[in-house]
Amino acid sequence: MTFDQMGLSEPILRAIAAQGYTTPTPIQAQGIPAVLAGGDLLAAAQTGTGKTAAFTLPLLQRLAHAPQARDAQRRVIPRVLVLVPTRELAAQVADSVRDYGQFLTLRCMVMYGGVGMQPQIDALKRGVDIVVATPGRMLDHQAQGYLNLSGIDTLVLDEADRMLDMGFIHDIKKVLAMLPKKRQNLLFSATFSDEIKTLAQGLLDKPAVIEVARRNTAAQTVRQTVHPVGRERKRELLSHLIQQHNWFQVLVFMRTKHGANRLAEQLARDGIGADAIHGNKSQGARTRALGAFKSGKLQVLVATDIAARGIDIDQLPLVVNYELPNVPEDYVHRIGRTGRAGAEGEAISLVCVDELRFLRDIETLIGKSIERRLIQGFEPDPKERAQPIKVGRTVIGGPRPASRGNAPRQAQARPRGDAPARHGQGHGQGQGHGGQPRGDRGRGGAQSRRG
Ligand code: AMP
Repeated sequence: MTFDQMGLSEPILRAIAAQGYTTPTPIQAQGIPAVLAGGDLLAAAQTGTGKTAAFTLPLLQRLAHAPQARDAQRRVIPRVLVLVPTRELAAQVADSVRDYGQFLTLRCMVMYGGVGMQPQIDALKRGVDIVVATPGRMLDHQAQGYLNLSGIDTLVLDEADRMLDMGFIHDIKKVLAMLPKKRQNLLFSATFSDEIKTLAQGLLDKPAVIEVARRNTAAQTVRQTVHPVGRERKRELLSHLIQQHNWFQVLVFMRTKHGANRLAEQLARDGIGADAIHGNKSQGARTRALGAFKSGKLQVLVATDIAARGIDIDQLPLVVNYELPNVPEDYVHRIGRTGRAGAEGEAISLVCVDELRFLRDIETLIGKSIERRLIQGFEPDPKERAQPIKVGRTVIGGPRPASRGNAPRQAQARPRGDAPARHGQGHGQGQGHGGQPRGDRGRGGAQSRRG
């Protein structure tokens, strides 16, 4: 199927052409007709599949051909609400809406925390058709009486699994209770966990179900290598590799924001252009760093897992795991940043003796072993012994408890919510998934939960 066989109007087809898209991606081929038909949708799709256009294009089409919603003062009020987990994703989705709607007169605004309320209030007053928001800030606007939700006829939950991981479930429920009952609901999620199924059951009415990409496909397509290295020599090895291979556009993953900052500084001292991106940085600093990285001006971007979520960077040549994640699914997320859409990708992990346990868990998840390659001059000392890894005050790499130690495969097959040692990094977008007892989830206060 081509875009012009889908019943999209000329201004939208023109915008698609302006983006250079010729063929719908699988999620678009299935999702656009389903959304145009007006029913609910449950879609399993990760970032990089073209999911944003899959819901945006048909919604623009519908909005452009229906009367605007207005409040008692005749002000235009939103008809579509798109909820997303992070600021970055909110900004990206809103950019896409503007790109795809560039030849229409619909207005879209983005709403997230960490920046002033006033410009967002002004935009609401001018009138908007589409709101793209993180849940916390959206609720703030609603509570203060600036956001009128009575015209919402379509709700999109994008990256719903991450919203749940980040503790947004209560906010989502609050929002649902405020929306008009008769509406179209579209739920996008990378995974269909039990939590997502429960959410979907309560939210969706006879949804069309689309599944386009398995979660760990990246694990099959990306070239992966482990470089064993001494605990204290990782930074030296990374600088050596970057300089030797003249690597550009390298995304480097760390467990903590503090580690990310320090590494970026150390690389800069080695003469390598590097910046860190994490939730403690101002929105402006994050946007600048991401922009410089995308345009190729910044050689290395150091990121924490949560900060990297929702970042739309396509077809990166290389991802480096400077530290392995203690939740194996995060490894798959990380390497999914490279080698998209058939492009060749490479993921390199610098692994010290402390992390061998994480490496085993990852290999179990992806169902294969990763090639080990020693780099001459950086071989680890065979006498080096594993030490527990500390993230803040929490230890994540201690010896396995005896009960689990006897049944490692069982421990590794756990669902993500049961991961034994996932610890939030304390940066502004909330704590990571799993690990904490349910009641503690997302308890990090307004700032940490509200994107
Ligand atoms: P998304 O999964 O929505 O984050 O989209 C991933 C990337 O694919 C974005 O950079 C889009 O611009 C791009 N994209 C979306 N649809 C298409 C298409 N039909 N053809 C080519 N690229 C696309």
